[in-house]
Amino acid sequence: MSHSPKGSAGASYQHSEQLYQRASRVIPGGVNSPVRAFRAVGGTPLFFASGAGAYLTDVDGRRYLDLVCSWGPLILGHAHPAVVEAVARACRQGTTFGAPCPAEVELAERVVASYPGIEQVRLVSSGTEAVMSAIRLARAFTGRDLIVKFSGCYHGHADHLLVAAGSGLATFGRPSSAGVPEAFTACTRVLPLDDEAAVAALFAREGERIAAVIIEPVPANHGLLPQRPEFLATLRALTRRHGTLLIFDEVISGFRLARGGAAQRLGIVPDLATFGKVIGGGMPVGAFAGPRNVMARLAPDGDTYQAGTLSGNPVAMASGIATLDALAAGNGWAKLEALGLQLERLLQPVLQEAPFPLELVRVGSLFWLSLHASGAPRTAAALPQPAADRFAALFHAMLAEGIYLPPSAYEACFLSLAHEGADLERLAQALRRALAGLR
Ligand SMILES: *Cc1c(COP(=O)(O)O)cnc(C)c1O
Repeated sequence: MSHSPKGSAGASYQHSEQLYQRASRVIPGGVNSPVRAFRAVGGTPLFFASGAGAYLTDVDGRRYLDLVCSWGPLILGHAHPAVVEAVARACRQGTTFGAPCPAEVELAERVVASYPGIEQVRLVSSGTEAVMSAIRLARAFTGRDLIVKFSGCYHGHADHLLVAAGSGLATFGRPSSAGVPEAFTACTRVLPLDDEAAVAALFAREGERIAAVIIEPVPANHGLLPQRPEFLATLRALTRRHGTLLIFDEVISGFRLARGGAAQRLGIVPDLATFGKVIGGGMPVGAFAGPRNVMARLAPDGDTYQAGTLSGNPVAMASGIATLDALAAGNGWAKLEALGLQLERLLQPVLQEAPFPLELVRVGSLFWLSLHASGAPRTAAALPQPAADRFAALFHAMLAEGIYLPPSAYEACFLSLAHEGADLERLAQALRRALAGLR
Protein backbone atom coordinates (compact mmCIF):
# COMPACT_ATOMS: atom_id res chain seq x y z
CA MET A 1 0.00 0.00 0.00
CA SER A 2 1.28 3.41 -0.85
CA HIS A 3 0.77 6.32 1.46
CA SER A 4 1.64 9.49 -0.29
CA PRO A 5 0.22 12.22 1.90
CA LYS A 6 -2.48 14.27 0.28
CA GLY A 7 -1.71 17.79 -0.75
CA SER A 8 2.05 17.37 -0.76
CA ALA A 9 4.16 16.93 -3.85
CA GLY A 10 6.05 13.65 -3.79
CA ALA A 11 9.27 15.59 -4.07
CA SER A 12 8.85 17.15 -0.67
CA TYR A 13 9.98 13.94 1.07
CA GLN A 14 12.95 13.54 -1.24
CA HIS A 15 15.69 13.94 1.35
CA SER A 16 14.03 11.60 3.84
CA GLU A 17 13.65 9.02 1.10
CA GLN A 18 17.29 9.31 0.07
CA LEU A 19 18.47 9.03 3.66
CA TYR A 20 16.23 6.05 4.27
CA GLN A 21 17.74 4.28 1.27
CA ARG A 22 21.24 4.99 2.51
CA ALA A 23 20.29 3.99 6.06
CA SER A 24 18.74 0.73 4.89
CA ARG A 25 22.08 -0.32 3.44
CA VAL A 26 24.03 0.08 6.67
CA ILE A 27 21.41 -0.08 9.45
CA PRO A 28 19.00 -3.04 9.71
CA GLY A 29 15.60 -1.82 8.53
CA GLY A 30 17.13 1.63 8.21
CA VAL A 31 16.40 2.49 11.84
CA ASN A 32 17.91 2.10 15.29
CA SER A 33 14.61 1.33 17.02
CA PRO A 34 11.87 -0.60 15.16
CA VAL A 35 8.80 1.64 15.61
CA ARG A 36 10.62 4.44 13.78
CA ALA A 37 10.42 2.47 10.52
CA PHE A 38 6.72 3.39 9.94
CA ARG A 39 5.89 -0.29 9.32
CA ALA A 40 2.52 0.06 11.07
CA VAL A 41 1.48 3.04 8.95
CA GLY A 42 3.38 2.51 5.70
CA GLY A 43 5.45 5.05 3.85
CA THR A 44 8.97 6.32 4.36
CA PRO A 45 10.07 7.28 7.86
CA LEU A 46 10.82 10.97 8.21
CA PHE A 47 14.34 12.03 9.04
CA PHE A 48 14.44 15.10 11.23
CA ALA A 49 16.93 17.92 11.02
CA SER A 50 15.96 19.94 14.08
CA GLY A 51 13.49 20.53 16.85
CA ALA A 52 12.49 23.70 18.69
CA GLY A 53 9.84 23.83 21.40
CA ALA A 54 6.79 21.85 20.27
CA TYR A 55 7.92 21.67 16.64
CA LEU A 56 10.09 19.40 14.52
CA THR A 57 11.59 20.20 11.13
CA ASP A 58 12.33 17.34 8.75
CA VAL A 59 15.28 17.17 6.36
CA ASP A 60 13.02 18.44 3.55
CA GLY A 61 12.22 21.58 5.50
CA ARG A 62 8.66 20.65 6.50
CA ARG A 63 7.55 21.65 9.98
CA TYR A 64 5.39 19.53 12.28
CA LEU A 65 3.70 19.94 15.62
CA ASP A 66 5.36 17.10 17.54
CA LEU A 67 3.14 14.82 19.65
CA VAL A 68 5.84 12.21 20.19
CA CYS A 69 8.43 14.30 22.02
CA SER A 70 11.02 11.55 21.53
CA TRP A 71 8.55 9.16 23.24
CA GLY A 72 8.45 11.15 26.44
CA PRO A 73 11.82 12.57 27.48
CA LEU A 74 11.21 16.04 26.04
CA ILE A 75 8.75 17.23 28.66
CA LEU A 76 10.08 20.79 28.21
CA GLY A 77 9.98 20.54 24.41
CA HIS A 78 12.88 20.44 21.96
CA ALA A 79 16.09 22.32 22.66
CA HIS A 80 14.86 24.01 25.82
CA PRO A 81 17.36 26.83 26.50
CA ALA A 82 18.02 25.79 30.12
CA VAL A 83 18.78 22.21 29.08
CA VAL A 84 20.91 23.20 26.09
CA GLU A 85 22.89 25.63 28.24
CA ALA A 86 23.41 23.11 31.06
CA VAL A 87 24.54 20.40 28.63
CA ALA A 88 26.90 22.74 26.77
CA ARG A 89 28.44 23.92 30.02
CA ALA A 90 28.91 20.34 31.22
CA CYS A 91 30.47 19.28 27.90
CA ARG A 92 33.11 21.99 28.11
CA GLN A 93 34.19 20.59 31.48
CA GLY A 94 34.60 17.03 30.25
CA THR A 95 31.94 14.61 29.09
CA THR A 96 32.71 11.62 31.28
CA PHE A 97 35.17 10.70 33.98
CA GLY A 98 34.30 7.08 34.77
CA ALA A 99 34.52 8.29 38.35
CA PRO A 100 32.11 10.10 40.66
CA CYS A 101 31.09 13.68 39.86
CA PRO A 102 28.98 16.26 41.73
CA ALA A 103 26.14 16.24 39.20
CA GLU A 104 25.18 12.62 39.89
CA VAL A 105 24.70 13.48 43.56
CA GLU A 106 22.55 16.43 42.54
CA LEU A 107 20.29 14.29 40.37
CA ALA A 108 20.10 11.44 42.89
CA GLU A 109 19.08 13.87 45.66
CA ARG A 110 16.29 15.23 43.47
CA VAL A 111 14.97 11.75 42.69
CA VAL A 112 15.03 10.65 46.32
CA ALA A 113 13.32 13.86 47.44
CA SER A 114 10.62 13.51 44.78
CA TYR A 115 9.42 9.94 44.90
CA PRO A 116 7.49 8.35 47.77
CA GLY A 117 9.11 5.59 49.80
CA ILE A 118 12.57 5.59 48.29
CA GLU A 119 15.86 6.32 50.03
CA GLN A 120 18.48 5.49 47.41
CA VAL A 121 18.76 5.49 43.66
CA ARG A 122 21.25 3.99 41.21
CA LEU A 123 21.66 5.85 37.93
CA VAL A 124 22.03 3.99 34.63
CA SER A 125 21.78 4.93 30.95
CA SER A 126 18.41 3.60 29.73
CA GLY A 127 15.03 2.39 30.89
CA THR A 128 15.87 -1.14 29.79
CA GLU A 129 18.92 -1.16 32.03
CA ALA A 130 16.96 0.26 34.95
CA VAL A 131 14.31 -2.45 34.74
CA MET A 132 16.79 -5.27 34.16
CA SER A 133 18.77 -4.19 37.22
CA ALA A 134 15.70 -3.70 39.42
CA ILE A 135 14.56 -7.24 38.63
CA ARG A 136 17.98 -8.67 39.44
CA LEU A 137 17.96 -6.74 42.70
CA ALA A 138 14.47 -7.99 43.60
CA ARG A 139 15.55 -11.56 42.95
CA ALA A 140 18.66 -11.13 45.07
CA PHE A 141 16.76 -9.48 47.92
CA THR A 142 13.96 -12.06 48.07
CA GLY A 143 16.07 -15.08 47.15
CA ARG A 144 13.31 -16.04 44.68
CA ASP A 145 13.31 -16.53 40.92
CA LEU A 146 9.83 -15.87 39.54
CA ILE A 147 8.68 -12.52 38.23
CA VAL A 148 5.22 -11.44 37.12
CA LYS A 149 4.47 -9.01 34.34
CA PHE A 150 1.26 -7.94 32.64
CA SER A 151 0.29 -8.38 29.05
CA GLY A 152 0.41 -5.00 27.30
CA CYS A 153 3.06 -3.52 29.59
CA TYR A 154 6.49 -2.86 28.08
CA HIS A 155 9.57 -2.86 30.25
CA GLY A 156 12.39 -2.56 27.73
CA HIS A 157 14.09 -5.37 25.87
CA ALA A 158 15.82 -7.45 28.55
CA ASP A 159 15.52 -11.16 27.67
CA HIS A 160 13.29 -12.30 30.52
CA LEU A 161 10.81 -9.50 29.83
CA LEU A 162 10.37 -10.18 26.13
CA VAL A 163 7.51 -12.46 26.90
CA ALA A 164 4.09 -13.03 25.42
CA ALA A 165 1.19 -14.38 27.43
CA GLY A 166 0.62 -18.11 27.19
CA SER A 167 -2.60 -19.40 25.71
CA GLY A 168 -5.66 -20.04 27.83
CA LEU A 169 -5.02 -20.31 31.53
CA ALA A 170 -1.30 -20.94 31.19
CA THR A 171 0.63 -18.01 32.52
CA PHE A 172 4.06 -19.34 31.58
CA GLY A 173 5.70 -16.78 29.38
CA ARG A 174 6.74 -17.67 25.86
CA PRO A 175 9.55 -15.64 24.33
CA SER A 176 8.07 -12.85 22.20
CA SER A 177 11.32 -12.42 20.28
CA ALA A 178 13.63 -14.75 18.48
CA GLY A 179 16.93 -15.16 20.26
CA VAL A 180 15.39 -15.49 23.71
CA PRO A 181 15.75 -19.04 25.07
CA GLU A 182 12.63 -20.47 26.67
CA ALA A 183 14.73 -21.14 29.74
CA PHE A 184 15.10 -17.36 30.15
CA THR A 185 11.36 -16.72 30.17
CA ALA A 186 10.48 -19.83 32.18
CA CYS A 187 10.69 -17.73 35.34
CA THR A 188 8.36 -15.05 34.00
CA ARG A 189 4.61 -15.27 34.53
CA VAL A 190 2.36 -13.13 32.35
CA LEU A 191 -1.08 -12.03 33.52
CA PRO A 192 -3.82 -9.89 32.01
CA LEU A 193 -4.25 -6.36 33.34
CA ASP A 194 -7.44 -5.44 35.20
CA ASP A 195 -7.95 -8.94 36.62
CA GLU A 196 -7.59 -9.26 40.41
CA ALA A 197 -8.77 -12.87 40.35
CA ALA A 198 -5.96 -13.93 38.01
CA VAL A 199 -3.37 -12.31 40.27
CA ALA A 200 -4.88 -13.86 43.38
CA ALA A 201 -4.95 -17.30 41.75
CA LEU A 202 -1.30 -17.04 40.74
CA PHE A 203 -0.28 -15.95 44.24
CA ALA A 204 -2.28 -18.79 45.76
CA ARG A 205 -0.35 -21.20 43.57
CA GLU A 206 3.16 -19.76 43.53
CA GLY A 207 3.20 -16.75 45.84
CA GLU A 208 6.13 -17.96 47.92
CA ARG A 209 8.29 -18.20 44.79
CA ILE A 210 7.56 -14.77 43.32
CA ALA A 211 10.37 -12.24 43.67
CA ALA A 212 8.64 -9.31 42.03
CA VAL A 213 5.54 -8.07 40.29
CA ILE A 214 6.36 -5.40 37.75
CA ILE A 215 3.78 -3.11 36.20
CA GLU A 216 3.51 0.24 34.48
CA PRO A 217 1.16 1.89 37.00
CA VAL A 218 -0.34 3.79 34.06
CA PRO A 219 0.29 1.39 31.17
CA ALA A 220 1.28 3.53 28.19
CA ASN A 221 2.87 1.13 25.74
CA HIS A 222 -0.21 -0.54 24.28
CA GLY A 223 -2.18 2.59 23.83
CA LEU A 224 -2.98 4.10 27.20
CA LEU A 225 -4.67 1.65 29.58
CA PRO A 226 -5.44 3.45 32.85
CA GLN A 227 -6.10 0.85 35.52
CA ARG A 228 -8.78 0.81 38.20
CA PRO A 229 -7.16 1.96 41.48
CA GLU A 230 -8.58 -1.18 43.14
CA PHE A 231 -6.54 -3.37 40.80
CA LEU A 232 -3.30 -1.64 41.74
CA ALA A 233 -4.28 -1.70 45.42
CA THR A 234 -4.79 -5.45 45.14
CA LEU A 235 -1.30 -5.83 43.70
CA ARG A 236 0.08 -3.82 46.59
CA ALA A 237 -1.75 -5.93 49.16
CA LEU A 238 -0.94 -9.33 47.64
CA THR A 239 2.75 -8.59 47.12
CA ARG A 240 3.08 -7.31 50.68
CA ARG A 241 1.36 -10.38 52.08
CA HIS A 242 3.67 -12.73 50.17
CA GLY A 243 6.98 -10.96 50.69
CA THR A 244 7.10 -10.11 46.98
CA LEU A 245 8.48 -6.76 45.82
CA LEU A 246 6.15 -4.52 43.83
CA ILE A 247 8.02 -2.66 41.08
CA PHE A 248 6.44 0.35 39.43
CA ASP A 249 7.98 0.87 36.02
CA GLU A 250 7.72 4.65 35.88
CA VAL A 251 9.94 5.07 32.83
CA ILE A 252 7.12 6.99 31.11
CA SER A 253 5.04 8.15 34.09
CA GLY A 254 7.90 9.18 36.39
CA PHE A 255 8.33 12.97 36.64
CA ARG A 256 5.56 13.31 34.03
CA LEU A 257 2.29 12.58 35.80
CA ALA A 258 3.46 14.24 39.00
CA ARG A 259 6.70 15.05 40.77
CA GLY A 260 6.31 11.68 42.49
CA GLY A 261 5.12 9.96 39.32
CA ALA A 262 2.12 7.66 39.15
CA ALA A 263 2.82 6.52 42.73
CA GLN A 264 2.03 9.99 44.02
CA ARG A 265 -0.94 10.39 41.71
CA LEU A 266 -2.44 7.05 42.72
CA GLY A 267 -1.39 7.12 46.36
CA ILE A 268 0.21 3.68 46.11
CA VAL A 269 3.85 3.27 47.05
CA PRO A 270 5.81 0.44 45.40
CA ASP A 271 8.93 -1.23 46.81
CA LEU A 272 11.09 -0.35 43.82
CA ALA A 273 10.61 2.15 41.02
CA THR A 274 12.32 2.47 37.66
CA PHE A 275 12.81 5.68 35.72
CA GLY A 276 13.96 6.75 32.27
CA LYS A 277 12.81 9.18 29.59
CA VAL A 278 11.93 12.43 31.49
CA ILE A 279 14.66 11.85 34.09
CA GLY A 280 17.29 12.45 31.40
CA GLY A 281 15.51 15.32 29.66
CA GLY A 282 16.59 13.95 26.26
CA MET A 283 19.96 12.48 27.24
CA PRO A 284 20.41 8.75 28.00
CA VAL A 285 19.54 8.33 31.69
CA GLY A 286 17.68 5.66 33.57
CA ALA A 287 17.42 4.95 37.28
CA PHE A 288 16.07 2.45 39.76
CA ALA A 289 15.30 3.28 43.32
CA GLY A 290 14.06 1.83 46.57
CA PRO A 291 14.48 1.74 50.33
CA ARG A 292 18.01 1.55 51.72
CA ASN A 293 17.73 -2.03 52.98
CA VAL A 294 16.92 -3.29 49.47
CA MET A 295 19.34 -1.04 47.57
CA ALA A 296 22.12 -2.11 49.96
CA ARG A 297 22.20 -5.45 48.18
CA LEU A 298 23.83 -3.75 45.18
CA ALA A 299 27.58 -3.91 44.64
CA PRO A 300 29.84 -2.56 46.05
CA ASP A 301 28.00 -2.79 49.41
CA GLY A 302 26.17 -5.96 48.50
CA ASP A 303 26.44 -9.09 46.40
CA THR A 304 24.32 -8.03 43.41
CA TYR A 305 26.40 -6.87 40.47
CA GLN A 306 25.41 -3.86 38.40
CA ALA A 307 27.63 -1.34 36.62
CA GLY A 308 27.92 1.13 33.71
CA THR A 309 30.80 2.88 31.96
CA LEU A 310 28.78 6.04 31.29
CA SER A 311 26.45 5.82 34.30
CA GLY A 312 26.11 9.18 36.03
CA ASN A 313 28.16 11.04 33.43
CA PRO A 314 28.06 14.81 33.96
CA VAL A 315 26.50 15.69 30.59
CA ALA A 316 23.48 13.42 30.94
CA MET A 317 23.14 14.44 34.59
CA ALA A 318 23.14 18.13 33.63
CA SER A 319 20.29 17.51 31.20
CA GLY A 320 18.25 15.64 33.81
CA ILE A 321 18.86 18.20 36.54
CA ALA A 322 17.98 21.13 34.28
CA THR A 323 14.78 19.36 33.20
CA LEU A 324 13.62 18.49 36.71
CA ASP A 325 14.47 21.98 37.99
CA ALA A 326 12.55 23.68 35.18
CA LEU A 327 9.55 21.45 35.90
CA ALA A 328 9.64 22.23 39.61
CA ALA A 329 10.34 25.96 39.24
CA GLY A 330 7.64 26.53 36.65
CA ASN A 331 4.88 24.61 38.44
CA GLY A 332 5.25 22.24 35.49
CA TRP A 333 3.06 19.38 36.61
CA ALA A 334 0.03 21.59 37.22
CA LYS A 335 0.58 23.25 33.84
CA LEU A 336 0.81 19.91 32.08
CA GLU A 337 -2.42 18.80 33.71
CA ALA A 338 -4.15 22.01 32.60
CA LEU A 339 -2.79 21.53 29.09
CA GLY A 340 -4.15 17.99 29.00
CA LEU A 341 -7.55 19.22 30.14
CA GLN A 342 -7.56 21.92 27.47
CA LEU A 343 -6.67 19.30 24.86
CA GLU A 344 -9.59 17.17 26.01
CA ARG A 345 -12.03 20.09 25.73
CA LEU A 346 -10.80 20.92 22.22
CA LEU A 347 -10.71 17.37 20.86
CA GLN A 348 -13.93 16.00 22.37
CA PRO A 349 -16.32 17.75 19.94
CA VAL A 350 -14.09 16.81 16.99
CA LEU A 351 -13.99 13.15 17.98
CA GLN A 352 -17.75 13.01 18.36
CA GLU A 353 -18.06 13.80 14.64
CA ALA A 354 -15.47 11.22 13.58
CA PRO A 355 -16.65 8.85 10.83
CA PHE A 356 -15.42 5.86 12.86
CA PRO A 357 -15.02 5.09 16.58
CA LEU A 358 -12.32 7.34 17.98
CA GLU A 359 -11.99 7.97 21.67
CA LEU A 360 -9.60 10.15 23.64
CA VAL A 361 -7.96 8.46 26.61
CA ARG A 362 -5.96 10.88 28.74
CA VAL A 363 -3.95 10.86 31.94
CA GLY A 364 -2.32 14.23 32.55
CA SER A 365 -0.10 15.07 29.58
CA LEU A 366 -0.30 11.55 28.14
CA PHE A 367 -3.05 10.79 25.69
CA TRP A 368 -4.13 8.16 23.21
CA LEU A 369 -6.59 8.11 20.34
CA SER A 370 -8.27 4.73 20.77
CA LEU A 371 -9.85 3.23 17.65
CA HIS A 372 -11.49 0.39 19.52
CA ALA A 373 -15.15 0.14 18.62
CA SER A 374 -16.03 -0.81 22.17
CA GLY A 375 -14.43 2.31 23.61
CA ALA A 376 -11.25 2.56 25.65
CA PRO A 377 -10.02 -0.85 26.84
CA ARG A 378 -8.30 -1.56 30.17
CA THR A 379 -6.49 -4.63 28.86
CA ALA A 380 -4.17 -5.18 25.91
CA ALA A 381 -6.82 -5.75 23.26
CA ALA A 382 -5.64 -6.21 19.67
CA LEU A 383 -6.95 -3.68 17.20
CA PRO A 384 -8.93 -5.26 14.35
CA GLN A 385 -7.27 -4.78 10.94
CA PRO A 386 -9.84 -2.27 9.62
CA ALA A 387 -9.17 -0.06 12.64
CA ALA A 388 -5.40 -0.38 12.17
CA ASP A 389 -5.86 0.67 8.53
CA ARG A 390 -7.94 3.65 9.65
CA PHE A 391 -5.14 4.71 11.96
CA ALA A 392 -2.61 4.50 9.12
CA ALA A 393 -4.82 6.73 6.98
CA LEU A 394 -5.33 9.16 9.87
CA PHE A 395 -1.60 9.24 10.57
CA HIS A 396 -0.79 10.25 6.99
CA ALA A 397 -3.63 12.75 6.82
CA MET A 398 -2.30 14.37 9.99
CA LEU A 399 1.23 14.37 8.63
CA ALA A 400 -0.03 16.26 5.59
CA GLU A 401 -1.59 18.74 8.05
CA GLY A 402 1.78 19.23 9.71
CA ILE A 403 1.05 17.11 12.79
CA TYR A 404 3.48 14.37 13.81
CA LEU A 405 1.62 11.57 15.61
CA PRO A 406 3.37 8.40 16.80
CA PRO A 407 3.55 6.05 13.77
CA SER A 408 1.53 3.28 15.44
CA ALA A 409 -2.04 2.95 16.67
CA TYR A 410 -0.70 1.43 19.90
CA GLU A 411 1.53 4.33 20.92
CA ALA A 412 0.51 7.08 23.28
CA CYS A 413 0.99 10.77 22.47
CA PHE A 414 2.94 13.19 24.64
CA LEU A 415 2.43 16.86 25.45
CA SER A 416 5.25 19.07 26.65
CA LEU A 417 5.40 22.41 28.41
CA ALA A 418 6.32 23.90 25.03
CA HIS A 419 2.87 23.03 23.68
CA GLU A 420 0.65 26.09 23.92
CA GLY A 421 -3.06 26.64 23.68
CA ALA A 422 -2.68 27.78 20.07
CA ASP A 423 -0.88 24.53 19.21
CA LEU A 424 -3.71 22.49 20.68
CA GLU A 425 -6.25 24.50 18.69
CA ARG A 426 -4.21 23.85 15.58
CA LEU A 427 -4.21 20.16 16.41
CA ALA A 428 -7.99 20.12 16.85
CA GLN A 429 -8.56 21.92 13.53
CA ALA A 430 -6.15 19.62 11.73
CA LEU A 431 -7.88 16.59 13.19
CA ARG A 432 -11.29 17.88 12.09
CA ARG A 433 -10.04 18.35 8.51
CA ALA A 434 -8.18 15.04 8.48
CA LEU A 435 -11.25 13.14 9.69
CA ALA A 436 -13.48 14.90 7.19
CA GLY A 437 -11.09 13.80 4.45
CA LEU A 438 -11.38 10.18 5.60
CA ARG A 439 -15.15 10.18 5.65
C1 LIG B 1 10.63 3.19 27.14
C2 LIG B 1 10.33 2.25 28.24
C3 LIG B 1 11.29 1.35 28.74
C4 LIG B 1 12.63 1.17 28.10
O1 LIG B 1 13.39 2.33 28.16
P1 LIG B 1 14.60 2.51 27.09
O2 LIG B 1 15.26 3.76 27.56
O3 LIG B 1 13.95 2.61 25.75
O4 LIG B 1 15.46 1.32 27.23
C5 LIG B 1 10.97 0.62 29.87
N1 LIG B 1 9.77 0.73 30.44
C6 LIG B 1 8.82 1.56 29.99
C7 LIG B 1 7.52 1.67 30.71
C8 LIG B 1 9.06 2.33 28.86
O5 LIG B 1 8.09 3.13 28.37
